[in-house]
Amino acid sequence: DSWAQAVDEQEAAAESVNHGGRFDDKAAQSLLNKLIRNNLVNNTNQVEVLQRDPNSPLYSVKSFEELRLKPQLLQGVYGLGFNRPSKIQETALPMMLAEPPQNLIAQSQSGTGKTAAFVLAMLSHVDPNKRYPQCLCVSPTYELALQTGKVIELMGKHYPEVRLVYLLFLIVIGTPGTMLDWCGKFKFIDPKKIMVFVLDEADVMIATQGHQDQSIRIQRMLPKNCQMLLFSATFEETVWNFAQRIVPEPNIIKLKREEETLDTIKQYYVLCNSREEKFQALCNIYGAITIAQAMIFCHTRKTAGWLAGELSREGHQVALLSGEMQVEQRAAVIDRFRDGKEKVLVTTNVCARGIDVEQVSVVINFDLPVDKDGNPDNETYLHRIGRTGRFGKRGLAINMVDSKMSMNILNRIQEHFSKSAVTTHARTHTHNL
Ligand code: ADP
Repeated sequence: DSWAQAVDEQEAAAESVNHGGRFDDKAAQSLLNKLIRNNLVNNTNQVEVLQRDPNSPLYSVKSFEELRLKPQLLQGVYGLGFNRPSKIQETALPMMLAEPPQNLIAQSQSGTGKTAAFVLAMLSHVDPNKRYPQCLCVSPTYELALQTGKVIELMGKHYPEVRLVYLLFLIVIGTPGTMLDWCGKFKFIDPKKIMVFVLDEADVMIATQGHQDQSIRIQRMLPKNCQMLLFSATFEETVWNFAQRIVPEPNIIKLKREEETLDTIKQYYVLCNSREEKFQALCNIYGAITIAQAMIFCHTRKTAGWLAGELSREGHQVALLSGEMQVEQRAAVIDRFRDGKEKVLVTTNVCARGIDVEQVSVVINFDLPVDKDGNPDNETYLHRIGRTGRFGKRGLAINMVDSKMSMNILNRIQEHFSKSAVTTHARTHTHNL
C-alpha cells in the first residue's frame, strides 16, 4: 500500500509539473477559459490607473455611445449583447481611442473584457481605404490567435468593408514567430506601416521559450508613433519587466482580482480510515449534496477516475474532468456541467485551476489540497471553496479526512485562515459532520 501511495504521489507531481505539456500549460488554461467563458466576470474593485501624463484629464465612459465609435462598430458591440463597457473597458477604451494614440499596459483577470477592448480599438483604427496591414496582434499560440480572430469577425460583422475584403490584410493576428517571419523574412507585412501593435496574454507569452525575444524584435521594426498595447491577466515582476520593454511611455491600468472569502462557507470534515470509507461516507451524503451542484476534488487523476467509476457503478450520474483530456474535451465537460446536465463533477486540482463555476455550492475535498512536499496548500483550498464577495452565495465545503496526517493538514489549513483572517478576510471553522 505504501508503494501505491508513492506511485500516486509521483503521478500527482508529474501532473503538476506538466510533463505532457497539457495540464499545467498556461496557454491551454487560457484557451480553456476562453472556450468556456460566455459572459463577463463580475468585478466591483476599483480600477487603478497610472497615467503617462498625470495632468491630462482622465476620461472614463459609462456607455459605448460616449466613445463615438463608427456606427458599424457600435452595431457590432450591441449585436454581441454588450450593454455597457466593462469595468476595465470604461477607462481602457477612451485611452486606446484617444487622439493622438496612447500606449497602454493593462492587467486584469481573464474574462473582464480585455480582448473585446483591443479588438474594438483595432477595428476603430484601421482605414479600409488603405489596402495594407495596419494592426498587428500577437498571441502566444495559434489556437489563442484563432479565438481573437473570431472576436474580430463578430465585432466587425456590420463593417463589411473591413470584414469581407480586407480583414486578413488590415489586421493580422499570429504567434510571435510567424509574425516575425511575415515582417522580416517573407515581407508580407511592412512593419513601418503598422499603426497599432497589440501584445495579448503577456504572462502566457513569457512562459513560452523564445516568445519574449521574438516579440521584442517585432516591436523594434515598428514605427515610433505606432500605438503599443499590452494585456496580461497577471502581473508578476517578470511580466512587468517584459511589458516595460515592449511598451514605451505607457498608461497603466490594473484591476485587482475580486477577493475570495470563506466567510459565507460552512466547512465540515468527515473522519474516515481509508479511501473506501471516504467513498462510503460520500455515498451517505450523496443525496444531500446533489440538491445543488457539487465539485469533488481528488489529488490525482487516478483517484478521480476511480471515484467517478465507483459513483457511476452506484448509479449516480457524474462527470469526470481529467488531465488526459484535450482542451476542447475539457471545455465540453465544463459546459455540460454548467448547463446542469450533470450535478456532480469529479476532478483533480490541476484540471480545475482557474475555473470558476459560480453555481457550485458544494465542494468536497475527497483529498485535501497539498503541495508537492505534502504541505497544506492553503491557496488552493481558498480557490476551491472560496467565493468572491460579490456573489457571496452561501456554500458548503466537506473535507474528507482519512489519516492522522490528513487531520494534521486540515488543522494547519484551519490555523492558517484563522490567523490571517485580518489580511485575507478568510476564516476557517471546521466541524465534524
Ligand atoms: P478577457 O480578454 O479579459 O478574457 P473578453 O474580452 O474575452 O475578456 O470578455 C469575456 C466575455 O465577456 C466574453 O464572452 C465577451 O464577449 C464578454 N464581454 C466583453 N465585454 C463585454 C461587455 N462590455 N458587456 C458584456 N459582455 C462583454
